[in-house]
Amino acid sequence: MSELTTLQHFIDGRWVEPASGEYFESTNPATREFLYRAARGNAVDIERAVAAAREAFEDPRWRDLSQTRRGHLLRRLGDLIAENAEDLARMETKDNGKLLREMRGQLATLPEYYYYYAGLADKIHGDFIPTSDRQVLNYTAREPLGVVGAITPWNSPLTLTSSKLAPALCAGNTVVIKPSEYTSATVLKLAELALDAGFPPGAVNVVTGFGAEAGQALVDHRDLAKISFTGSTATGARIAATTASRFIGSTLELGGKSPNIVFEDANLPNAAMGIVAGIFAAAGQTCIAGSRVFAHRSVYEELLARVCERARTIVIGDPLDEKTELGPLAFEGQRDKVAGYVDLGRGEGARVLTGGRATDGGLGGWFYEPTVLVDVDNSMRVVREEIFGPVLAVMPFDTEDEVVRLANDTDYGLAAGVWTTNLARAHRMAARLDAGTVWVNTYRAMSPMSPRQGFKTSGVGVEHGTETIKEYTRLKSVWINTSEEPVADPFTMRS
Ligand code: NAD
Repeated sequence: MSELTTLQHFIDGRWVEPASGEYFESTNPATREFLYRAARGNAVDIERAVAAAREAFEDPRWRDLSQTRRGHLLRRLGDLIAENAEDLARMETKDNGKLLREMRGQLATLPEYYYYYAGLADKIHGDFIPTSDRQVLNYTAREPLGVVGAITPWNSPLTLTSSKLAPALCAGNTVVIKPSEYTSATVLKLAELALDAGFPPGAVNVVTGFGAEAGQALVDHRDLAKISFTGSTATGARIAATTASRFIGSTLELGGKSPNIVFEDANLPNAAMGIVAGIFAAAGQTCIAGSRVFAHRSVYEELLARVCERARTIVIGDPLDEKTELGPLAFEGQRDKVAGYVDLGRGEGARVLTGGRATDGGLGGWFYEPTVLVDVDNSMRVVREEIFGPVLAVMPFDTEDEVVRLANDTDYGLAAGVWTTNLARAHRMAARLDAGTVWVNTYRAMSPMSPRQGFKTSGVGVEHGTETIKEYTRLKSVWINTSEEPVADPFTMRS
């Protein structure tokens, strides 16, 4: 990407200029250097994209493609992603500031999303249902929905888009993607690779632009069969209201304020590293960030010392450098939001043990130091609200019942971590925590094979695993009477 780079929409297998003729700029958050300009999408562009997706959905080249062949295409797309891994990783690092070493790791597993759903493609089928009359057959069919809208955030565009794209295509749908206005580049490349893999034009479309313009127009489009959204709870709530009024489905993967709980019997060095991974990896810009730590009072001081010691030595700098451990926040507004929350915490009475300052990372970028807050409790906004940055709140507890109550006292329910060597306690906690994912003695583990779902305001619907197929299909029940016998009584229900 260079100053000369202009990114267009990708519609019907072609690069398409925006109807308005307008573009917006994207900046490298580590250096504030201009990266590219991207098409500013509006309702006209969305109309084109949905029409192309609808046409592709009805085209026999896609509709009548065998499920096995669909699987082949997904496998080929996975292969192409693997072949382009380094370029994609670098592109995303420049776009949102995520560490290149993290992006290389993400790219190493990204093809598996497509391989997993490639394997599932020819295993989607209905059931044969027994009836009380042997001459009556009843079977079910799992059908694709139609055109699926996918709206994604900036923190992990390739992975979060793939969580939607792979199962949606696997089930036979076509897709219109609206990526975040902060990270358009890699998702456009992904759509181009889908065409190269052999998906027909119109099967995968991308309209870039802003949420209030392109995003809203996609959600409002009458031809859409479903919206799959990853982003903030506030936007998710608006989308849910629209999809509910239109009686179409939505999968919503939203925000979090996840607890990471350390018991007195935990392996403390590992727990400390789990906490660092939970909140400082990706500069805390992950939905599953373990932003609230509850430590048993008997290990509270020691744990805090370990976490702060590591936090103070975290290498801040260029995300393209292999040695860097903490890159920038993805854009200026996000850095200001994080700084604002830490100031708010100070005002609420929180003490900053380490960090607490914005920095330019020596590169002129939008960085924020790894920050640990203490003297906090569940009444404070820094403990209740998602900050989406490298800011950790640490609190002591005395009993298991107390920590279950404190950990569950949140509007969110995305994930939770538990650190203990007591197996019975691990099971008890896994059962009692109100979170869609519970990690014991690990944190931030993820796989396309493992279903995940946000509880409470963290979301609706499942991503990953076989369950997802239900989110991208509809179930039809077909009854066939093979009997030529005269109908005995038309006024009774048949079975
Ligand atoms: P956001 O809600 O501001 O934006 C997400 C996407 O929605 C963007 O593409 C944006 O342009 C679009 N959008 C905004 N307003 C819209 C509207 N009115 N109609 C349609 N689309 C609209 O979120 P963000 O700041 O980009 O991402 C960070 C949030 O995402 C955090 O809350 C984080 O927890 C969440 N997230 C959740 C998961 C998960 O799996 N649960 C994963 C990653 C991020």
